[in-house]
Order: sequence, then C-alpha cells, then structure tokens
Amino acid sequence: MEIVKKIAVIGGGISGLSIAHLLKKYDVKVFEKESKPGGLIKCDIVKGNLYHKVGGHVFNSRRQDVLEWFWKFFNKDVEFTKAIRNAVASIPNTPICPYPIENHIYIYEREIQRNIIKDIFGIEENKNGKPNNFEEFLISRFGKTLYEIYFKPYNQKIWKQDLRNIPLSWLEGKLPMPTPEEIIFNNFNHVKEMNMVHSSFYYPQSNGSQFIADRLAKDISIEYNSGIDSIKKEGSGWNIQGELFDAVIFCGNIKELPSILSGIDISAYRLEIESLGYHGTTSVLCETEHTDYSWIYLPDPEYDAHRIICTGNFAASNNATSSVRTATLEFTDYIGQEEILQQIKKIPFSLKYITHEYTKYTYPIQSPDTRQMLNSLKSKLISENVYLLGRFAEWEYYNMDAAMGAAIDLSKKLF
Ligand SMILES: Cc1cc2nc3c(=O)[nH]c(=O)nc-3n(C[C@H](O)[C@H](O)[C@H](O)COP(=O)(O)OP(=O)(O)OC[C@H]3O[C@@H](n4cnc5c(N)ncnc54)[C@H](O)[C@@H]3O)c2cc1C
Repeated sequence: MEIVKKIAVIGGGISGLSIAHLLKKYDVKVFEKESKPGGLIKCDIVKGNLYHKVGGHVFNSRRQDVLEWFWKFFNKDVEFTKAIRNAVASIPNTPICPYPIENHIYIYEREIQRNIIKDIFGIEENKNGKPNNFEEFLISRFGKTLYEIYFKPYNQKIWKQDLRNIPLSWLEGKLPMPTPEEIIFNNFNHVKEMNMVHSSFYYPQSNGSQFIADRLAKDISIEYNSGIDSIKKEGSGWNIQGELFDAVIFCGNIKELPSILSGIDISAYRLEIESLGYHGTTSVLCETEHTDYSWIYLPDPEYDAHRIICTGNFAASNNATSSVRTATLEFTDYIGQEEILQQIKKIPFSLKYITHEYTKYTYPIQSPDTRQMLNSLKSKLISENVYLLGRFAEWEYYNMDAAMGAAIDLSKKLF
C-alpha cells in the first residue's frame, strides 16, 4: 500500500491556499503566520467599510484552466459582480482622461494633439528599433509627448527610480502593446482598452478579496498564528515544529529562506537573495466623492500617491451606508499619517482619511539575473523535495490568477 505523502505549505496567501487544494489527495498542512488567510489579499472592516489592506483586488484570468479551477469554488452569478473596467487618468490641466490615455488623444489641447500625432508617425518610421529598458519601451510605443505627460510621472511614482534601470523582461505580458494603427483606429472610435487581463473583472458581492481567501481556506488544514522560523532536514524528510513532512512548499518570502532552512546548503545564493529589490505600499482607506470610476491614475508630480482604487464602486456592501463612497489611495513605500493628511489636501476627488496601513513587501523587482538565479536555486531545492511558489517565493510580479496558474503548473509536476 502506498503511504500518503505529508506536505507542509508555508503561507496561506492565494498561492498556498491554491496548492493546498490542488494536492488534496495528499496529507497537506498549511502554516500561516497571521490569524487569518489571504496574505496580500486580506481585508478588514473599518467603521463599517471594507478595507483592502493592500490594493483593491479584483479577479480575472486569460488562462482557461485557472478560470475553470477558480469557479469550482464559487457561484459566479450569485456571489460575484462582473464589471467593465472604467479607469481614468487625472492629468493636470486636462479634462479627466479615459484609460488608456493613448486612445483618447482628442481630449488634449490642440497643440498637444499635434505633437502626439507627430510622435505616432515617428513610431511608425522607427518601428524596427528594439527598446532596451522601460523608458525606451514607453517612448517607442507611445511617443515622447504622452511619455512626458503621463507615462513618465506615473511610473516614476510607482517604481521610484529611473525608468531606464527597469528591465523589460519581468514586465512581459503586463504592458499594453498597441501598434500605431491601433492607436489611430482606437481614437477614431473612442475605444476603451479590452486586451489587458482586468479590462473586465469579477469582484465578490461581500467582504472583498477576503471572501475569496476565506472560501479557499475552507476544507483544508491550516494552522494560524504559526510563523515558521525553522525547516530542518531530518532523514529524508523535513521537520517543522516537531512534525515530519515528506515535502515542503514554501509560499512565503524567499529573503527569509536562508535563515529558516537547515540541512541543505544554499549559502551560495544568500547574497543574491539579500540584494533582491522590492517596494512596499501604503494603502489609505478614504471616503471619496461619488463617481462611477473603477481606478483613477494620478500622474501629477505635485503629490506622491499614484492611484485611487474606487473599491466602494466594486460592491455596494463595501460602503458603511449608501451615502458613503470609499476608495483606497495608494502610495509606493512608507508614508506616515501626518504626511498622508497633507498629501490628501492636494489630491482631487475630495478624499477624507479613515485609516491606513503600510506593507513592506508588495512589488518584487527583478534584475536581469533574478530568474536565472531562482531557477538554479529551485532545481537544487527540488532534489530535496522543497518547492518555491508565489509572488515573493519566486520573486515574480504575479497577479492572483498567475499565482493560481503557477500552483496548477506545480501540482502537475510534483511527485
Ligand atoms: C497593490 C497591489 C494590488 C494588486 N491588485 C491585484 C488585483 O487587483 N488582482 C489580482 O489578481 N492581483 C492583484 N495583486 C497581486 C496579488 O496580490 C498577488 O498575486 C497575490 O496575492 C500573491 O499571493 P501569494 O500567496 O503568492 O503571496 P502573499 O499574499 O504574500 O502570501 C504569502 C503568505 O505567506 C505568509 N507567510 C510568510 N512567511 C511565512 C512564514 N515564515 N510562516 C508562515 N506564514 C508565512 C504570509 O503571512 C502570507 O499570508 C495586487 C498586488 C498588489 C501589491
């Protein structure tokens, strides 16, 4: 008789919850350091309003296998709403510009329109020149004028660095790629962008993305308040809190791994792991004026926040009462309450502060060598039945669906 394998999953974010379900035929136990599941997608209720502690998570996927797997857990029509993304950019001295801004050139002043049109013809002439970094990519796709008006100030707020230092490889598939013909066609027809994964999206009727985490956490074995600080090799297995496991799936932060894992030498990777770049996010729950937007992008260099996620528009139950409309204001990295209050005064849409939280690890930043280093580390760990899965375990810019997709792919490769 085959003995059922015992598997430890470290981390009860979307990656850990997904893999725990996918490996249900084994004896799986999830260890989660917080008191509830969800990781980056967790939410609280503050003064009767739903508060996404990070971002304002919505769901969709281009992967059919992910969609089929995900919807097995939910009643799509009853438990979720479906919305078409209504994103806009609030650009100084310009009317509110529907997103994507390159499809709505007609709203700019005539002089700016002429410059953008000249740029677009330039793009057509230079179309064989390959961009080497994020700045070159943006200029080669959208031209210098739109780059200066929007793409540069907006992305500098998010990435807090010279856009020439951001390699393109790790943003693959996450960037809009319109051709000049498409830009012109879309302007004639006022087309909203429909190709990005969240052009339309699903959102739970109640409790935001915590609803997703809570449902996925049902029917699996999770030990909460269990921050794992030691994974120790013992014979052919792994000892975690005195219990022996055949395999470990690590869905936490790779930066912690060298100090947690013992019995296998990964010291050669230590320095590279230490130097992995990242950003954090300060998410501010606010009351705001009533709009019908889903996201408002804020390129204005006058203040540091880069977007308002209109979470109060995603589900009526997200707002304490029907007269209140809530939203999450986002800043890259840490910002204290006093500074937030000062900043809010400069930002449009009549924001009123409710609460805020800073999360240290929200955006992994890859260097050109990161994937190679992690693939090498993964191969070494696999031979010892240790696997890496998730946004900060793999240092990948995953959305929820990409994290689920990575879990599906891993589950097919295991044992
Ligand atoms: C601002 C922002 C907005 C986003 N918006 C969207 C969106 O709208 N739609 C979308 O699809 N995706 C969105 N994402 C991406 C999404 O948040 C991630 O893809 C997803 O949550 C990653 O899940 P994860 O399980 O890989 O990692 P995490 O959510 O980081 O989970 C890791 C878990 O491991 C636990 N843990 C860590 N170390 C230990 C330890 N030693 N012991 C025990 N437990 C441990 C943590 O507490 C945590 O619960 C957004 C991300 C950000 C930052």
